[in-house]
Order: sequence, then C-alpha cells, then structure tokens
Amino acid sequence: MEKVISVSLGEIVLKGLNRKYFEDKLIKQIRKAINDLGYEKIYKEQGKIYIEADDGVFPQITHRLRKVFGLVYISPCIKVEKDMEKIGEAAVELIKNKLAESSYRTFKVETNRSDKSFPIKSPDISRAIGGVILRNFNELKVDVHNPDIYLYVDIKQNAYIYIDRIKGYGGLPLGTNGKGLLLLSGGIDSPVAGFMMAKRGVEISCVHYHSYPFTSERAEEKVKDLAHILSRYMGEIKMYSVNILNIQKAINKNCPENQMTILSRRFMMRIAERIALENDYNALITGENLGQVASQTIYGLNATNRSVSLPVFRPLIGFDKVDIIEIAKDIETYETSIQPYEDCCTVFLPKHPVTKPKVEDIEESEKALDIELLIEDAIENMKIYTIS
Ligand code: ATP
Ligand code: MG
Repeated sequence: MEKVISVSLGEIVLKGLNRKYFEDKLIKQIRKAINDLGYEKIYKEQGKIYIEADDGVFPQITHRLRKVFGLVYISPCIKVEKDMEKIGEAAVELIKNKLAESSYRTFKVETNRSDKSFPIKSPDISRAIGGVILRNFNELKVDVHNPDIYLYVDIKQNAYIYIDRIKGYGGLPLGTNGKGLLLLSGGIDSPVAGFMMAKRGVEISCVHYHSYPFTSERAEEKVKDLAHILSRYMGEIKMYSVNILNIQKAINKNCPENQMTILSRRFMMRIAERIALENDYNALITGENLGQVASQTIYGLNATNRSVSLPVFRPLIGFDKVDIIEIAKDIETYETSIQPYEDCCTVFLPKHPVTKPKVEDIEESEKALDIELLIEDAIENMKIYTIS
C-alpha cells in the first residue's frame, strides 16, 4: 500500500481567484523545508497537497512541516484506488497499527467525498468501512459522539485513508504578505511578535540595538541565537545591528532623566524606519504590549509612535504575559530569551520613568539633540548579518 503525507490548507482555501498563488507559495515553502530529507514528489489534488516520500522519513518531514505557515493539519495517509475493498484494507492496516500503540475502545469513520462522480455517498462509505473495522477488531465499538479514534476517508482522484491529524500553525505562506522589519531585543516579547507576523505571511528582517561596550558581545550573540531560532520558521533572516550608545549618551547629557526610555525608543523607531524605507520593508514590528512597563502605557506608546509614519505592527498589544510566554515556549525562543544578558535599555535606566509622557514635552526635549546627525552616524556604523 502506498503511503503519502497529506497537508490541509487553512485560510488559503478562502482565497478564491488568488488561491493558486497562495498554494504555489506554500508548495515552495514546503519544498524548502524538506529538501534535504529527500522526497519523491509534491502534488495538489482537490484542495490538499500531498508529499510522496520514503515512509521512514515521515516523522522528520512532519516535524519540519509543523514549522511551515499556511497549513493546518498534517496526516500520514494510505493512498489507494477508489475501490471499497482496497479502502477497507487500508482502514484495517491503519487501525491495526493504531491499536499496537495503545488500547482504544471506540472509533468513528468520517468520509469526505470531493469526487462527486464516485457512486457511493459519504455516509454509506463511512458505514461500510465501519462494518469492515467491526468485523476485524472485536475489541472496537462505534461511538459517533466521542470516539477514541477517528478514521478519515477522503475520496478524490485517489482515495486517502488516515487517522492522525497533526496540527500545524495555520496562517498564510511566508512571502505572501510583503516584508516587515522586526525590532528584536533579547527579551521574551519581540521574538514572539516576529513569529506572529511571519505566520501572517510577512517576511521578516530584524534590527537590534546595543550599547557596546556597555553591553557585551555575548548579549548580541544571544539576539543572534534568537534570530537563528526564528529562522527555522522564516528561512534566512537579515539582521541589522546598530550601536546606539552615542545616542543614549547625548540624551543622558541633554534631556530630562525620566524621559530616557521614551526618547531612546523614539530613536529606535526612527532608525528602523530609515532602514525600512531604504530596503523596501513596509511595516515595523515590535513586541510592545499595553501596560506591561512604564514606556508601554497608552501615553508612552503614543509618544513612541509619533516619531514615525510607517505602520507599526504590535501583534502582542492585547496579550497577557502568561500567554506570550506560552507561545515563546512553544516556538522554542523562551529558554534563550530568559538568559540573563544586559540590554541597551538597562544602561541608562531612569529611576522614575515617565508613565504619562506628553508628546509636546518629548518633542521639546529633543530640540536639544541633533537628531539627524545622531541617526546618520548610527546607521553608518551599523553591521549587517545574515542568519540561518
Ligand atoms: P522584549 O521582551 O521584546 O524585550 P519588553 O517587554 O522587554 O520586550 P521593552 O524593552 O520595553 O519591552 O521593548 C519594547 C519593544 O521595543 C520590544 O518588544 C522590541 O520590539 C523593541 N526593543 C526594545 N529594546 C530593543 C533593542 N535593544 N533592540 C531592538 N528592539 C528593541
Ligand atoms: Mg526588552
């Protein structure tokens, strides 16, 4: 019996006339993800994508596919002709393997007949295959409400029979929604924010700000490690590394101490916008979250935001910290994020940061700075890395 992996698409199926574009992008991402594992063929068949490969590498392929955006379920299947006897044999084979894993008592067959020319209707197929299973496995009963095992039968050009449905992340294929520039710190939030936007199809590049030699080289390595983990989902990531020590010194010397964080945050945004405009990124992305710290009150966010005109995506804005941590653990950035290395923001951390900054006051303070010169100087000295 031939074994293949099936991939169910999520929102892509809603794309109407653009659907082919999204499917082709997804196939490209799937190819990229599993290329080195060796597969024979990837093909589409009536709404799903199928991968032919040696079933010895199915577990690795499945593991890689879980990190590809745009797919909702991944299932190892048996592929047979549309012949009830063969479908029955495949069902028995799958159930036998399933029962070898653990003991189950109840099952249900669910059929989806995309090929309406097949003469037997879905409920009748389910009933017939259910009968075959009952005859072969005395220990199993049917439970249509809450079965231990679902056995799925998809009737397309071929028949596909499967039990396991491994959940993917959903979203849209990478590269279907332009490019964004993520402000990546070493913290917990910004890697999660990058992941969330990539899941919506945005290709991600990163900018990181440091205050070397006040912050260590190891602190920068940590951020590269985070970008490396993200690259498992997003492919190669470009990282711009910008030293803002001179900017922080200038703020520290010329502006009110309690505005330090907001003022440096505005420089981060401006520099990011500059890089974005020069490199064709259409949005900035941050891990900001309403109310989390003094600089992220609604007033702080307003004051920060007013320094740029590109859209700023803040996918975590309404999340609770526990929920962000849960995603960070799931995408495997958490352990790296909690390593204790210094961040540039901690270098000149004000004792009592403003929580209700007024934009006019902030702009007034900035008059003491040569903003343009500071930005140009920082950008001129930035380093660019490619991380994969
Ligand atoms: P994170 O966990 O992402 O560091 P945070 O809760 O510590 O977030 P802040 O330090 O206030 O929050 O930063 C808010 C956002 O500003 C970050 O999510 C990130 O997008 C951006 N940011 C902060 N520091 C840096 C930095 N050194 N380099 C690049 N971006 C930064
Ligand atoms: Mg931080």
